[in-house]
Amino acid sequence: MNKPTNLITIDGSQGEGGGQVLRSALTLSLITGRPLEMIHIRAKRKKPGLMRQHLTAVQAAAAIGEAEIDGAAAGSQSLQFQPQTIKGGDYRFAIGTAGSCTLVLQTVLPALVAAGVEARLHLSGGTHNPMAPPADFLQRAYLPLLQRMGVNIEMKLLRHGFYPAGGGEVELKLEAGSQLQPLNLLARGELRQVGAEALIASLPMRIAERELETVRRTMGWDSTKLQLRGLNNNQGPGNVLVATIEHEHVTELFTTFGEKGVSAEKVAGKLCRQIKAYLKSGAPVGPYLADQLLLPLAIAGGAFMTAKPTQHTLTNLETINGFLPGCLDMEEMDDGMVRIFHGDK
Ligand code: AMP
Repeated sequence: MNKPTNLITIDGSQGEGGGQVLRSALTLSLITGRPLEMIHIRAKRKKPGLMRQHLTAVQAAAAIGEAEIDGAAAGSQSLQFQPQTIKGGDYRFAIGTAGSCTLVLQTVLPALVAAGVEARLHLSGGTHNPMAPPADFLQRAYLPLLQRMGVNIEMKLLRHGFYPAGGGEVELKLEAGSQLQPLNLLARGELRQVGAEALIASLPMRIAERELETVRRTMGWDSTKLQLRGLNNNQGPGNVLVATIEHEHVTELFTTFGEKGVSAEKVAGKLCRQIKAYLKSGAPVGPYLADQLLLPLAIAGGAFMTAKPTQHTLTNLETINGFLPGCLDMEEMDDGMVRIFHGDK
């Protein structure tokens, strides 16, 4: 592929140096139409380069943007991506491993939304992966905010997919002509509801019971707020503990996964620490949601309040500003929160 004059080069080793740099760069290349050259892809990860999930994200982005690609192979640490027009339609993206469907989805969705096209997406792979937003997080935290911004979208979780078996499936229906309104999320409002759910498939129920018991004791939540959901054994093995914290203006989710060699009490303890940190911060947007709201914010404008941004969030902000200089900015507030805002909208 010849190097076009408006080519943008993004260094995947910047900041946190993970998959988010690649995914955001693909999304922004699609939205701006600027050809992208990625170097040092996922340079700071144990296994650098494109893993199955990232490769599927590249292929998915190429499919919706009719892009010409070079370097899209497993393990590749550099890539050229030259998109044309974003096209709606029916798409099926299969990761083929337990790699995260939701991360592939978040690569293409903002671009489809920005283009205002209609699309149906079917993705298969992992739906509940450590280090990625679980499908529930998209359904209850991320997508409701996009809906509030004017996106008509529906998501169904057809089948759970856990690491290492995978086999999960999600389906999305995006209506045409989204008229994006700015995102304004400066306060969380009144606390409306809290709850935790332990999902378990093909593992002893006792694990989930112990997790919920630990949440009950640590958070002081009564049993009406705790739910055990046994999934069909053929969706396992897998165990995830999900807490939902619903305030007037925002719903946040926190997740921990059952792991071999880690006690149910430890898994639940880790979840409770995340919940407590969020409740104490006073901010509407938690650390993961902050990462994921940066692209919608860059596209539509607005501002949100979060606690001290993580390295992940800062890296994503830097990637976005690499494409759109001065687009996003942040300021520390007196109460310790940080306001992240669109520079000119
Ligand atoms: P990366 O590690 O660079 O591939 O990016 C991982 C992405 O997954 C980031 O957007 C994180 O915000 C998101 N993520 C990781 N863990 C969680 C979690 N427990 N809940 C929600 N999102 C998550």
